[in-house]
Amino acid sequence: MIAVLFGVPGVGKGTIAAMLNKKYGIPHISSGNLLRELVQKGIAGEDLKSIIDKGYLVQDLLVYKIVGDRLKEKECEKGFILDGFPRTVAQAEFLDDFVKQKSTNITKVINFKASEKTVIKRLGGRRMCSKCDAIYHLQNIKPKKAGICDKCGGELIQREDDKPEVIKNRIEVYKKQTAPVIDFYEKKRLLADIDTEKPIEEIFEDTCRAIDG
Ligand code: AMP
Repeated sequence: MIAVLFGVPGVGKGTIAAMLNKKYGIPHISSGNLLRELVQKGIAGEDLKSIIDKGYLVQDLLVYKIVGDRLKEKECEKGFILDGFPRTVAQAEFLDDFVKQKSTNITKVINFKASEKTVIKRLGGRRMCSKCDAIYHLQNIKPKKAGICDKCGGELIQREDDKPEVIKNRIEVYKKQTAPVIDFYEKKRLLADIDTEKPIEEIFEDTCRAIDG
């Protein structure tokens, strides 16, 4: 199974991806997490950190390399859940070529929907584990102990790009560069719209129903 989770930053892709990973037992591949890992390990330079922190898109070639390498791993043979990739039509074409070469198909592209007001609220309250990338929210997904990850005990932090001045830019970048990917998948009849203005359990059920067809 190959599921692509699509939607504006803050719509809940990462949270649902983690739930799908548990249910279907296939890896959750987040291009954002892979890129942040490059920065944390000091493999990438300040340029990459600055692009991410300001909310702009990283150049396609670097994204192809890190996502492509990850998808070639044995663990991904049974399928994978993509979160945050593709983010441009060129990246969607890259993914198409990749799955064709593997003689497989994308199962479904989940188009998560929410109002701008909702995503701004979600991003502003989001906290992330500095160790295992688990996602929390100050109001909606609280950890048992404030500031500490339930899963690994790591410190919860606010991402630099979840700060108010960057959130606006990320939404603009989404509208200009990422939203055209919806048309690309609509033409291929792979798209399923999911309303995310409801409790998380219901969003998850709707997503599973769309994937299982
Ligand atoms: P995310 O964790 O998906 O919100 O991604 C965080 C940041 O990483 C984005 O704002 C971009 O700077 C970068 N990024 C993640 N995925 C991609 C992608 N597919 N293409 C380009 N840049 C990306």
